Amino acid sequence: MALIVHKYGGTSMGSTERIRNVARRVAKWHRAGHQMVVVPSAMSGETNRLLGLAKELAPSTTGSAYGRELDMLAATGEQASSALLAIALQAEGLQAVSYAGWQVPIKTNSAFTKARIESIDDVRVRADLDAGRVVIVTGFQGIDPDGHITTLGRGGSDTSAVAVAAALKAAECLIYTDVDGVYTTDPRVVPEARRLLRVSFEEMLEMASMGSKVLQIRSVEFAGKYKVPLRVLSSFTPWDIDLTEEAVSGTLITFEDEEDMERAVVSGIAFNRDEAKIAVLGVPDTPGIAYQILGTVAEANIEVDVIIQNVSKGGLTDFSFTVHRNDYQKAMDLLKDQVLPKLGAADVVGDARICKVSIVGIGMRSHVGVASRMFKCLSDEGINIQMISTSEIKTSVVIDEKYMELAVRALHREFDLDQTTDTIAG
Ligand code: ADP
Ligand code: ASP
Ligand code: MG
Repeated sequence: MALIVHKYGGTSMGSTERIRNVARRVAKWHRAGHQMVVVPSAMSGETNRLLGLAKELAPSTTGSAYGRELDMLAATGEQASSALLAIALQAEGLQAVSYAGWQVPIKTNSAFTKARIESIDDVRVRADLDAGRVVIVTGFQGIDPDGHITTLGRGGSDTSAVAVAAALKAAECLIYTDVDGVYTTDPRVVPEARRLLRVSFEEMLEMASMGSKVLQIRSVEFAGKYKVPLRVLSSFTPWDIDLTEEAVSGTLITFEDEEDMERAVVSGIAFNRDEAKIAVLGVPDTPGIAYQILGTVAEANIEVDVIIQNVSKGGLTDFSFTVHRNDYQKAMDLLKDQVLPKLGAADVVGDARICKVSIVGIGMRSHVGVASRMFKCLSDEGINIQMISTSEIKTSVVIDEKYMELAVRALHREFDLDQTTDTIAG
């Protein structure tokens, strides 16, 4: 008997029929002798619907009071789906109880709409498990030190599930979704993409942080920090398939360092449409400018990604970086109002029609020339590269968003990702 955490995404919870299927699958695991904790997302479309209503009422409001209400609102999506799942499990003859984040409690900081989990109390959940109940914990939400409901950022139910698994020292965390694992790239963009049987934690971390939305990045960080065994698999297989077969399906995120394993140089391609580029032009090239520009942005809780400072000409330089598209206007306003006058820079310009495409692979550590192969491939397609950033196991480029799909497909082909017979990465 093991303690297992299941997470079901929005599509998997998308109708009463699908919720009944989830309940039957969970019941199968429970009847096989496992202690079950289930973390559901809101029913598909619900979070967008709720946030859309807020936007109708207040199209351009920002700030903490507004963020608090957005979280109060969005958290209801997961509360509803969790209660429905508990009801479906009870209808299957099981004892089941659902808890909202604040009832567990899952404690977070106060960064509304992108809060971080700080601790999880396992006492209540354990007592229910010991009494033979299936416990359902809402995804995506928690409570801050002042008792306000918070949410964890889009896709945050993955993080809730892995954090709950870490707190309970679960034997495994299974992320059930609408694809049957982690692919070489998003199969919706490249139909030839292949499922990876295994992917190393480091590669998964880069893929998630470069935009592969199959797992929220913080869930991968949590899995790494607490060594939570993690698997991504399909919720669309028949619920009554053999449990042993189901338990080894999908993609396993591995932690071992299998140095001697033969690997593809590039294991996956990630892309992100959600970024925007900002350039501060004509900045006096003196010590402290990076700090003055990025410090102000960071204080406003805006994350910065690719950063470039140009070689200076005549004592002046240009300084560019990317931010999340949601933070674009806020960052532009900040720079225009606060930084531009102080620095005496010439102008701030921005472009929200960009995207970032990244190739990821542990094999890049031991192979030279991978980045230049990427650049050649893009140049052969006539795609202009605006910015480049690299780490040990990834190379990212910022390009015009209208070339995104072309770039992803061309790179997928270039690195033979649709052909390799070995589907084991990392
Ligand atoms: P859920 O609602 O279950 O959390 P998401 O929509 O958040 O599901 O994540 C699953 C989706 O992630 C898939 O439908 C797929 O389009 C997308 N995706 C992006 N990159 C990948 C990848 N490398 N492998 C698999 N799916 C990916
Ligand atoms: N319901 C939330 C969202 O749509 C959280 C999640 O699905 O993981 O972002
Ligand atoms: Mg998701």
